[in-house]
Amino acid sequence: MITISGIPEMKSLANEARSQNLAIGFVPTMGYLHDGHMSLVQRARSENDVVVASIFVNPTQFGPNEDLELYPRDMEGDRHKLQTAGVDALFLPESGQLYGPGYQTYVIVETVSLPLCGSSRPGHFKGVATVVLKLFNIVRPTRAYFGQKDFQQLQVIRRMVSDLNVDVSVIGCPTVREADGLAMSSRNSYLDVSERKQAVALNQSLLFAKTMFHSGETSSRIILDAVVDRISREPDARIDYARIVDSHTLSDVDQSDSASLVALAVRIGKTRLIDNMILG
Ligand code: AMP
Repeated sequence: MITISGIPEMKSLANEARSQNLAIGFVPTMGYLHDGHMSLVQRARSENDVVVASIFVNPTQFGPNEDLELYPRDMEGDRHKLQTAGVDALFLPESGQLYGPGYQTYVIVETVSLPLCGSSRPGHFKGVATVVLKLFNIVRPTRAYFGQKDFQQLQVIRRMVSDLNVDVSVIGCPTVREADGLAMSSRNSYLDVSERKQAVALNQSLLFAKTMFHSGETSSRIILDAVVDRISREPDARIDYARIVDSHTLSDVDQSDSASLVALAVRIGKTRLIDNMILG
């Protein structure tokens, strides 16, 4: 595996691969890699000739009071995991290179960015869409891999790629969970022992919702009441949002159907976790 930090070097590797008609699979990440990230890498490895992973903690997607400075990092561990998984190139751009002096261009994906995390984290998806488009322009992937754990992010990127005619296939990959159901996340490392136990409430409440739906309940209000009730049993849990939305538009639905998505953001102590599940 080669490590590349310069944009011109990354572009020339991508151009060289493309000129030989090689398919490039790309997995953008913020590092501190876990098995969720690695499932994307494995899928990319199995479907492409060249696999590029990036690690970049993108400042433009963090709000002023968020965890940009604290965000966990383990470059040596990450490098080892990527190398073992057969990644060809690790791209490690620097912030000053991606956002040089005078930087002023951003991508705004309108409607689908507004609800859920878009309303709790204003500007977040503007930062995400901008950096992902920049990375696409540099890495020139044939296919790019994103987790359904960040469901809204996946929809924002799909919309951007479609609206801006970007020549890449966006592949959504299932959420990888710990043995007790907690969705893997780099931010799980912030949880202390008691918080870690309480965090399982997110997945359990989503499973409750799914069971209710499969037993014939379609009222989103009634399902959400049960979700909120389950989460509220944990002493350190504070719900940021709990919604049932259409999985394409992300707008609220009163009557759930099999394409509806239950989407959650919950603070456990100081750590904000997200999770989601399609009801059908
Ligand atoms: P991040 O490093 O958090 O920006 O995540 C990089 C990519 O990994 C994104 O596409 C995430 O959706 C994906 N990802 C993060 N956690 C998981 C998980 N538990 N299962 C599957 N994909 C994940």
